[in-house]
Amino acid sequence: MKNNLSNIKKAKYYLDKNECVGIPTETVYGLAANAYSNVATTKIFRLKKRPKKNPLIVHYHSLKMLKIDCEINNFFYKLYKRFCPGPITFVLKLKKNSKISKNVTNGKKTLAVRFPKNSLTIKLLKNLKYPLAAPSANISNRISPVSKEDVKDEFGKKIKYILDGGRSKIGLESTIISLIHKPEILRLGGVEIKKIKKIINYDIKYNTKKKRIASPGREKVHYSPEIPIRLNVSEAKQDEAFILIKKRKLSCKNFYYLSKNKNLKYAAKNLYKTLRMIKKKKFKSIAVEKIPNKGFGQAINDRLLKASRF
Ligand code: AMP
Ligand code: MG
Repeated sequence: MKNNLSNIKKAKYYLDKNECVGIPTETVYGLAANAYSNVATTKIFRLKKRPKKNPLIVHYHSLKMLKIDCEINNFFYKLYKRFCPGPITFVLKLKKNSKISKNVTNGKKTLAVRFPKNSLTIKLLKNLKYPLAAPSANISNRISPVSKEDVKDEFGKKIKYILDGGRSKIGLESTIISLIHKPEILRLGGVEIKKIKKIINYDIKYNTKKKRIASPGREKVHYSPEIPIRLNVSEAKQDEAFILIKKRKLSCKNFYYLSKNKNLKYAAKNLYKTLRMIKKKKFKSIAVEKIPNKGFGQAINDRLLKASRF
C-alpha cells in the first residue's frame, strides 16, 4: 500500500513535468501524458511513432471533469452508469472552451474518452489537475502491452516511468462507440455489442466498411507481431507456432492455448501475451485455429486479421 502511494507520486511527478508515463489499465497498458499540454502530448506521438492524424483517447476519473471538456447525452449517461469504470470508450462532442490539446484530437471537434478500471490509475487520476491522454503503450501497429514488462519491451529507457499495476485483467482494447450522430461501434473490444444494445435499446452496428471516422484501430495493419500469421488453420506446419482455442491431441509440439475450452473472454485476455511470447521465441510464422466469430471471438478475429496483414 505504502509502495503504491510512493509509486503514484513518482508517476505524478513525471506527468506534472510533461513527461510520458506507462500506466496500467484493465484493457492494456497506456502511454500517458497531460491531455491539456501540447508539449506532453507531442511526446506520445514521437515515442510511439504514431501518425499525427490518429487521435488519442483521454482518460478521466470523474464525470465532473469530463463535463469540462465534453458534451454528454442520454446514450452516454446510460452506458456510463452501466459500464464505467470499464472497457468502453465514448466519442463525444468537444466543448468550445475545452482545454484539451489540439494534438489529442488532431484539431477535430470530437473527443474519445474513457474511465479506466485500475485502482492505481484511478488514484493517480484523482491526484492530477488534468486528464490523461493515453493510447496503448506500444510502438504504432505492434502488439499492445498487457504488463509493465511488455511496456519495457516496447520503449526500454525511452520513457521515464511505468506504474506497475499487474497484468491487465481484460487484456484487449476498449470497445469504442461514437455518440456524435446515431450510436455506432468504431472498434470491437472489452464490452460486447449485445450488452451495449441491451442498455441503450438501439440496434447498434459495427460497420467495418465505413471510413468516415478515422480510427487507427480500423487501419488495415495493426497489433502485429511482425511475423506471418495464417488464420483458420486446422493443422500447423512442424516449425510453426500453433495458437489454439480448445484442448486437442496434437502431433506438433509448438502449441499455445488461448483457452482450453473455447472460453472466448479468457482467450481474449491471453491473445497479446501469447503473440508477444511467440515473437520472443523467434518463430518464423504463426498458425491459428478457427475462432468462433461471436462475442469476444469477434474482437479476437478482428485483431488477428489486422495482425495477419503484416
Ligand atoms: P489506441 O491508440 O490503441 O489507444 O486507440 C485509440 C483509438 O481511439 C483509435 O482507434 C482512435 O481512432 C480512436 N479515437 C480517438 N479519438 C477519436 C475520435 N475523436 N473519433 C474517432 N475515433 C477516435
Ligand atoms: Mg493501440
